[in-house]
Amino acid sequence: MTPVPPNATLSLPGPQLVDAFGRRLHYLRLSITDLCNLRCLYCMPSEGIAKLEQWEVLSLEELARVARVAVGLGVDKIRLTGGEPLLRRGLDKLLAELDAIRPRPDLRLTTNGLLLAEKLPLLIRYGISTVNVSLDSLRPERYARVTGLGAPDGGRALERVWRGVEAALASGALTVKLNVVALGGLNDDEIGDFARLTLERPLAVRFIEYMPVGRHTPFQPQRFLPAAEVLKSLKQLGELETLPHRPGDGPAQRFRLAGARGELGVISALSSHFCAQCNRLRLSAEGLLVPCLFSEAALDLRPLLRGGASDQELAQALLQAAQAKPQGHHQGPASLHVAGCQMSRLGG
Ligand code: SAM
Ligand code: SF4
Repeated sequence: MTPVPPNATLSLPGPQLVDAFGRRLHYLRLSITDLCNLRCLYCMPSEGIAKLEQWEVLSLEELARVARVAVGLGVDKIRLTGGEPLLRRGLDKLLAELDAIRPRPDLRLTTNGLLLAEKLPLLIRYGISTVNVSLDSLRPERYARVTGLGAPDGGRALERVWRGVEAALASGALTVKLNVVALGGLNDDEIGDFARLTLERPLAVRFIEYMPVGRHTPFQPQRFLPAAEVLKSLKQLGELETLPHRPGDGPAQRFRLAGARGELGVISALSSHFCAQCNRLRLSAEGLLVPCLFSEAALDLRPLLRGGASDQELAQALLQAAQAKPQGHHQGPASLHVAGCQMSRLGG
């Protein structure tokens, strides 16, 4: 971590981000680009989607400013996402600015891992505590299909991602998690292979339910695999110890295979809602503050950021967005209508 610069936010007692239902929102997900080097079938339409113009995307300074103001309102955890966040030009400058915020938030990042080995020293230098790597298959031909890369690029890409994961684990400097979207008829026969990765490695593998989000991406209901099915497959592997929920764990139910160094998690956004515990706000790459992943309601911060608003006015806007957070979403396995903003702009 770097020393505190003179303009860093100090811990001043003041209003905190609390929504109309009493939930404290202390976790901000910052999407720092809409660009991506993959076309995952559940995230982007295969024909691609319109890129944001450069002027539309928040600048590094604007992103850091929103983060600073949010920390002043009690945010203590910030996740960088995208699009693919490791593609963002000037990532080093952004990380330096985020690292200088006081009180220092816990900084995390979600990536597809393609550039992880290359960018790892940067992530370590600026104290990223946890990196979540999205990886849906360990088999080259399937990885190529899920990511839209096709063969032979898919196979080479999978090797690159895996090199990044191994390098991150070997560094011992950050927690490494694998995010696996469970896809019926596509990777459901790999649940055991993924789970066994945790036997020898201090890796957290988390299976995530496929969600009908991002209205530009056709949802394939036949691929929806409830978390309960994933759990059933995990239980077939042997004794599964349930791990206690710790503050800050988020929505994953956690487990460990007997004797494993790592752990397993199951995240069931659809089949059982965790809205009552939701503590998140999201900022899209173009500056929309989004209180719920499954709702298109959003507050556009860009006009404020570019229109001379003071930090206090920006803070007011964040407090207003917190108040607009819905009590819960109404998606469930039986009502799979596609909702919410484009995932590759919002970051999941
Ligand atoms: N590109 C980075 C990555 O893939 O990790 C960060 C952005 S991506 C939008 C963030 C997360 O959203 C990924 O873990 C991805 O698997 C997840 N995601 C995207 N679309 C999804 C969907 N329809 N259902 C469930 N998870 C989804
Ligand atoms: Fe895949 Fe992430 Fe890119 Fe979406 S943003 S296509 S999930 S790598």
